[in-house]
Amino acid sequence: MHENCGIAAVSKNEKGVIHDLLGMLIQQQHRGQLSAGVSTYNSERQQLLDTYKNLGLVNEAFKFRYSTEFNKIVERYDGTKGIGHVRYATSGANDVGAAQPFERHHGRIWKWFSFAFNGNIANFSELKEELAREQYRLVRNLDTELIMHFIAKEFIGTLRRPLEEVFASLSRVLDGAYNIAFINAANQLAVIRDPLGFKPLSFIVDGNNLFAASESVALTHYEKKIKSLKPGEMLIVENESVERKRFAKSKRKAVCMFEFVYFAHPISEIDNISIYNARWRLGKELAKRESLKPDKNTIVVPVPDTAKPAATSYALEIGAEFKEGLIRNKYIGRTFIEGTNRTALVREKYSFNKRILKGKNVILIDDSIVRGTTTKEIVKIIKEKCKAKSVHLRISCPPIVAPCFYGIDMTTLGELLMPNYVDPENAIEISEKTFEKIAKELSADSLIYQSIEGLVDAIKIPKRELCLACLTGDYPTPCGRRLFKKALENFHNNSVTVKRTYE
Ligand code: SF4
Repeated sequence: MHENCGIAAVSKNEKGVIHDLLGMLIQQQHRGQLSAGVSTYNSERQQLLDTYKNLGLVNEAFKFRYSTEFNKIVERYDGTKGIGHVRYATSGANDVGAAQPFERHHGRIWKWFSFAFNGNIANFSELKEELAREQYRLVRNLDTELIMHFIAKEFIGTLRRPLEEVFASLSRVLDGAYNIAFINAANQLAVIRDPLGFKPLSFIVDGNNLFAASESVALTHYEKKIKSLKPGEMLIVENESVERKRFAKSKRKAVCMFEFVYFAHPISEIDNISIYNARWRLGKELAKRESLKPDKNTIVVPVPDTAKPAATSYALEIGAEFKEGLIRNKYIGRTFIEGTNRTALVREKYSFNKRILKGKNVILIDDSIVRGTTTKEIVKIIKEKCKAKSVHLRISCPPIVAPCFYGIDMTTLGELLMPNYVDPENAIEISEKTFEKIAKELSADSLIYQSIEGLVDAIKIPKRELCLACLTGDYPTPCGRRLFKKALENFHNNSVTVKRTYE
C-alpha cells in the first residue's frame, strides 16, 4: 500500500531555498519514492522559473553521491522561492515525464507557473471528457496534467486574477483530495489545502519567510511554531509578505484516518494531533477488545515499523512481553523486490528472529490488512519456519471494506480481502464466524480488529471530521459515492481487468 506524494514550499528573503527544499523532501521520503523534483524562482536568472526533477529517492534524483553534479544542480536551481515534490504514482506512468512539479511555460510571467500536488482527483474521467470537448488532450493521462490545464484556463485573457480566485474556481471543479504548492514567474508562491482537508499541510511563517510541507516532520528543525493550514485555506506570498486566506468554503472536514494509522511519519502532527500518540492510543483501544489471557509464553510482536507504538501500548495494557520478532530490512531498495512473488518479497523485506519466536504464543500486531497476502505470508513464516506455537492477529485499524478514491492506491473492491467475506455496503456488523473464517484464511489462530469507535477515540478528531470511507463505504464527496457504485458493479460483474475505478 502506498501514499501518493509529499509537497514542500519555501519563500525566503535570500537565496538558499534549494537546501531547505531538499531537506524537507528527504524528511517526507516515506510519502513517495518514485521521483523527486523542485521548481524555483530566481530574479537573477534568465530562466526566472526553472524546474529540476528526476526518478528515484531524493538523494538519487539530486545526485548526492556525485558532488560535481550535485553542486551544478544546486547552483542552477537555487532561488528565493521554490516548491518541491516526492511522488508515488496512484495514476499514470512511472517515467520522469510524470514526475512533479509540472511547469507550464508562457511568455507572460504571471501565466508562467509550476505546481506540485498531493492527492487524487476522483472526477478525473468527467473532467478529462470536459477538456476533450474543448479540444484539450491529456498526453500522459495524469490528474496532474488535468489540474495544470484547469489552472491555465483561469489565466486566459489579459486580466490578471488574484490567486485566491484562481483556486476558488478550481475548487468548484475538482472533486477529491488536492493539496497544491504553486509558484509563478511573477514571484508569487501559494500553498492550498483542499476544502475537505483529506491530506495534512503544515507551515511556519517566520517574518516574511514561509516554510510549508505536507507533514510537520519536515519543519521540526526550524524550531519555530508549526501550524496546520485549515481545509479551504491558502497561504500566498507576494510583494514579500505572507498572507493566510480562505479560498473555498469548507462544508465539512474529511481528514484521512489512514494518515494516523499508517502513512504519516510518527514524529508528525496532523491538525495538532501527534501521530505517535494516536498510534499508542490505537494499541490501548485494541487491548480493550482482547479476550486472550497471556501466559509466560505469550509475546506481543509488531509488524515493523508502523505498528510498533500500538504494539508497545497493547503489550503494556494486557501485561505481556513486547518483543521485536521480525525486523524490517531498510536497505532492500524498491527495484530489487518489484515483480518478485509475495513469499519472496516478505522474506526479503523482513528478517525473522527464530530464537525469539520459537515455541511462543505470538500476538502479532499489524496496522491494517488490505489485500491480506503479506499478512498471510508473515503468519506462515512465524508458524512454519520459526516454529511459534500459535499466532494471534490483532489489527489496529478496523476492517477495510471499500476502496479509496482520494489518493491511496486501493481503488477497486477486488484487490481488498474483506469484500470476499462481507457485503461492502453493509459491513458495519461483522460476525465472529466471519472473523474466524478470515483468521483461517490468513493461517492465524485468531483475529481481532480495532472497532471504528476505538479508532475515532484514539485519533481524537470527531467522527464527522474524518474520512472513514474505506471502513464504512460512506464517501464524503459526490464523485466518491458514484465511484463506489461503479466499484460495486465491477466487483459483482467480476471485472478483473479494471485496474483503477476512476480511470
Ligand atoms: S477512503 Fe480511506 S484511505 Fe482514502 S482518504 Fe478516506 S480514510 Fe483515507
